[in-house]
Amino acid sequence: MSDEILYLNGQFMPLSEGRVNVEDRGFQLGDGIYEVVKVLNGHPMWLEDHLTRLRASLKAIRLVDTLAAHPLEEVVPELIRQSGLGNATVYIQVTRGYAPREFIFPHPPEPTILAYVRAKEFPTADEIMRGTTLHPVRDQRWAHCDIKSTNLLAAVLAKEEAFEAGADEALFVSQRGVVREGGSSNVFAVVEGVIRTHPLSNRILGGITRKHAIAAAHRIGLSVEERAFTLPEITDPEGGCSEVFTASTAKDLLPVRQIGEAVIHGGRPGDITLELLDIMRAEQAFMAEMELPIELSSLSRG
Ligand code: PMP
Repeated sequence: MSDEILYLNGQFMPLSEGRVNVEDRGFQLGDGIYEVVKVLNGHPMWLEDHLTRLRASLKAIRLVDTLAAHPLEEVVPELIRQSGLGNATVYIQVTRGYAPREFIFPHPPEPTILAYVRAKEFPTADEIMRGTTLHPVRDQRWAHCDIKSTNLLAAVLAKEEAFEAGADEALFVSQRGVVREGGSSNVFAVVEGVIRTHPLSNRILGGITRKHAIAAAHRIGLSVEERAFTLPEITDPEGGCSEVFTASTAKDLLPVRQIGEAVIHGGRPGDITLELLDIMRAEQAFMAEMELPIELSSLSRG
């Protein structure tokens, strides 16, 4: 078995052997959408949710009926099986395919469909407890952030700016100071004891991790208000914010210890963040047929 296996337009092959036409519309026009699925112990996490969102993205870019010949609910487990990998991510991309360069849709389109698996390590307990840092940037993306589009230039520039400022992740903030989401994550805050996150809208991606974090909160009787908050509300020491955390497939939930110059919760992970993460890690262990992981909330209590 070899790792890094690619599924490209119906064929399985080593990732290095994949070839896509130079005039693929994904390459030239960013005319495509994607997904990233976490693989733990050889099992895809929340695959149905990812494929549902993939279908919604395809519908939004008017690329329908493309998946009929490509049963991704079977392709993804087969890729993982052929790779022999335990911890990995599966990247899926669908573009409007090859056509001589032209803005108008080709008729009929011949979409390019690919998925590949690559080894990936997820944050360790130590890394989670150390937390993450955010660098606020003005949100200059387009008005369809709910589509998981391969047009990622604004996120690339924002995340590079954050990296050069010494932070782990960019934080997209609107002109009026509303916190929207991270460069590649959703953002939650606990303000006056209430868990809050930006409501689903065209301004954010409806994250799968976000959805399961909200469900985890409900499961332990905590309410979540899908109501936006501003940057000053979470960075002002008098603003009543006790915890901030990010949510993403690649990193699950990460406690935020600093935003710009502002230190959050003394730089320590918050109790609610760790409790929600414990629930989600237990759910993932169940799906991955693994032993229950160490409880982070008990670690923090010492
Ligand atoms: N927002 C943006 C802009 C993202 O790129 C991502 C990750 N792809 C997320 C949120 C988190 O989504 P998910 O939990 O589905 O990975």
